[in-house]
Amino acid sequence: MEIINVVPHGYCQGVIRAIQTAVSTAKENPGKKITMLGMIVHNSYVVEQCRALGIGFVENPKKTRAELLDEIDEGIVIFTAHGISDEVRKKAEAKGLEIVDASCKDVIRTHSLVREHVKKGDVLYIGKKNHPESEGTVSLSERIHLITEEKDLDELDGLENVLITCQTTLSLNDTKKIIDACIRKYPDAEVSPEICSATRMRQEAVMKLKDTDCLIVVGDPRSNNSNQLQRIAYDAGIREAYLIGSVLELTEDMIRNKNRIAVTSGSSTPNSLTSQVTDFLKQYAESGQFILPKEAEVRLL
Ligand code: SF4
Repeated sequence: MEIINVVPHGYCQGVIRAIQTAVSTAKENPGKKITMLGMIVHNSYVVEQCRALGIGFVENPKKTRAELLDEIDEGIVIFTAHGISDEVRKKAEAKGLEIVDASCKDVIRTHSLVREHVKKGDVLYIGKKNHPESEGTVSLSERIHLITEEKDLDELDGLENVLITCQTTLSLNDTKKIIDACIRKYPDAEVSPEICSATRMRQEAVMKLKDTDCLIVVGDPRSNNSNQLQRIAYDAGIREAYLIGSVLELTEDMIRNKNRIAVTSGSSTPNSLTSQVTDFLKQYAESGQFILPKEAEVRLL
């Protein structure tokens, strides 16, 4: 059995910066209440490590960032890598909270792009419903229209001077299909795909895999880019692809009788978790013994 370590994988620059920001905020403010607005990144192991540093979290996938902010009344609020709307920032300021902004620069660039465009036209923003990044971007202006699937275009009419853009962590293949549908309806539209280079490179590395029986993606079920890696594997003709949070979720059925297994991870997954899976598979390939470790190895940075 051959084990392939897909490169690149794991943390992107935006996630590293967000974690570094959270860690330094905790170190520099002992005794002060620090709360993260949402999950710092979509990975429960990372969230637990941050909790251990004294950082609290308000999180509920059914609530918007503005609603979650109602639960924070004092101290420091940290905005996550997914970016934040003007409305939420103003609300935090009005509450007298100290703001630490860990928004990724790639998301900020998309915000600048759409902010500039709505001065002269409408924006079709391809993104995931109820995702913090799309929520933050769409709420920047009423002229930004969220497109989650092609049929959403049927509900739109009378748009002018259209810009087509998207969330940073989408699937390259799925997004291209929706962009094509947008262009069919608005042939003169300007197109600016904003899938970030970290997401793009991780997906392209999976698409290039040859003769691979199985892909193991290490990532949280809530991580959009980890889910996309699993989807891309099927598009690339890999018959089996599994999303696991850590080595503890690996089963022998997933890897038995495979000649070539590749391992990758989403950009919110600590590299220690991915290395532990790769090491375990190598040991299994050599010994044939499936004995899982007792704990997942989590190193924040
Ligand atoms: S996945 Fe891309 S947009 Fe998201 S934090 Fe990483 S670099 Fe930034």
